[in-house]
Amino acid sequence: MHRRLSAEIIASGTELLLGDTIDTNSAYIAQQLRDLGVDVYFHTTVGDNARRLRSAIEIAAGRADLVIITGGLGPTVDDVTREAVAAAVGRPLAFSEELLEQIAARFARFGRPMTDNNRRQAYIPEGATPITNPVGTAPAFRAELNRSTIIALPGVPREMHYLMEHEVIPYLRSHIGDAIIRVRVLHTAGLGESHVDSLLGDLEEGSNPTVGLSAQPGRTDVRITARADTAEEADQMIESVARIVEERLSGHVYGRDHDRLGAAIAERLRRRGVRLAVFESVSAGLIAQELLEVAAELVAAHEVVPWTGDAEADDAHSLAGDIALAEDAYVLVSLGAEPDGDVQSTKGRRAALAVVGPGIDIATHFDFGSHPGLFQPWVVNHSLFCLWEALGTQ
Ligand code: ATP
Ligand code: MG
Repeated sequence: MHRRLSAEIIASGTELLLGDTIDTNSAYIAQQLRDLGVDVYFHTTVGDNARRLRSAIEIAAGRADLVIITGGLGPTVDDVTREAVAAAVGRPLAFSEELLEQIAARFARFGRPMTDNNRRQAYIPEGATPITNPVGTAPAFRAELNRSTIIALPGVPREMHYLMEHEVIPYLRSHIGDAIIRVRVLHTAGLGESHVDSLLGDLEEGSNPTVGLSAQPGRTDVRITARADTAEEADQMIESVARIVEERLSGHVYGRDHDRLGAAIAERLRRRGVRLAVFESVSAGLIAQELLEVAAELVAAHEVVPWTGDAEADDAHSLAGDIALAEDAYVLVSLGAEPDGDVQSTKGRRAALAVVGPGIDIATHFDFGSHPGLFQPWVVNHSLFCLWEALGTQ
């Protein structure tokens, strides 16, 4: 019934190729396609060169249902997307009076004179369908090549976003069929990705809903995507899978969709009516920051404390005991340092954590054996998770 579409994204622009501009457009387009349930298999970056862009388009159109190009629609000679698509589809560029009028009208509205090279923008490949661009002057367009659809969008992020939202997504929705696609993300912490994977492996093999994992140090997101004829039906499908996930990962799911770990902690602090003081070392203020961003009023104090070498539970616990607080607050101490002060060191690392306060007195250590560069974000997330877990106990 609901066939899955495959897509590729081509970002055109020499500034992207050289690394002068970060290609945020491809990331945005990929996220939008993912939420539509479209599979993206390749991203390509090409400079402003018609021949190479043409070749990238031909390769993409040879293996994907949909090719989205961003950039190269401007009025200058180095804007080569129109030429490249025309060459790939084997049609000449054709002048469109209607497009020229639209472009001229926009210039008139802004009281700017139109230059000759803006006429270039009124040419699109013969047989292509123009996509009106009310937020800029470069018209976007859609063309067909073999069995795939090519959509050319501007490079200016604001214009590209607008056209994705108002033109491309509605178009794709109507072509995917009437299927409604719904997505829910369950945020988990305190379990490694491979552990989560081993608990959810059977669900990840399903095709509707699909279940996919995306891991950050110390946290794993579980993304559930369902397609159905109605939103209610899709939501029900998601709900039944979400319940299984929550049951299997019991005690590790701290939120969904846009929820943050800091907010989940804040909620538990509020319920207890107690604030928090944060003392951290290798995390360099990032633990406190997560809380300050969502509930600054709950942070009684925060400080980065120097620490060298590995830390044991006792170290964290005795430091927490030494910190005398005037107010009623929990004290979180998170310790750990890069071995020999070297962030590159391949030695294993140990960090320790203590949470002390009304009704809670815990101290623990954790060993980290993954890539050194991930130690700090891992300590941040793992400490936040342990705190959230501790606050959840009775
Ligand atoms: P348009 O098709 O809208 O005319 P263009 O490629 O001709 O785009 P450029 O002048 O190359 O226009 O780019 C316009 C702006 O958009 C620049 O600031 C450029 O850095 C930015 N930009 C282009 N492509 C991307 C991208 N893939 N990601 C982020 N920014 C981009
Ligand atoms: Mg460009």
